[in-house]
Amino acid sequence: MDFLTGSCLCGRVTLRVPDDFEYMGNCHCSECRKFSGSDYAAVGGIDSAKFELTNGADNVSYYRKSAETDVAFCSTCGSSLFSRKRTARKHNIRLGILDDAPSARPAFHIHTASRASWSTICDDLPQFEHAPPQ
Ligand SMILES: [Zn+2]
Ligand SMILES: [Zn+2]
Repeated sequence: MDFLTGSCLCGRVTLRVPDDFEYMGNCHCSECRKFSGSDYAAVGGIDSAKFELTNGADNVSYYRKSAETDVAFCSTCGSSLFSRKRTARKHNIRLGILDDAPSARPAFHIHTASRASWSTICDDLPQFEHAPPQ
C-alpha cells in the first residue's frame, strides 16, 4: 500500500493517508466554500482509522460545524485540512493539502444546487444537486 503525505501552508501540520480513498469528489456546498475560501472543495474520503497526523497534532484546531462534523485547520496558518465525521468515522481530506498525487481523481460534483453563481463546472463528471445517492 502506498501512502500519501499532506501538509499545511506553514508546514507545522503533516499527515499521512493510504492511497486508497473510498470516494473522491468536488463539493460545492456553502459550508465547503466558506471553509476552503474557494468555489468548491475537492475532497477524498477515508476511514478515520486509516488517517494519521504525523506532526503538529497539537497545532490543529477543530470547529464543530454540526453534531456530526468537525472541520480541522492549522492553528498557525489557517490551512483547511480535513473534516471528520463523528459517527460515520470518515475523514474527508482536502485534496489541495496533499504533497503527492493520489492515484484516484475526483469523480463527481455534489451540492451543485449551492454552487457559486460565478463558478463554472468545466468537466463531464456526474453532478448531484445535493448529496450523491447512497
Ligand atoms: Zn500551518
Ligand atoms: Zn461541502
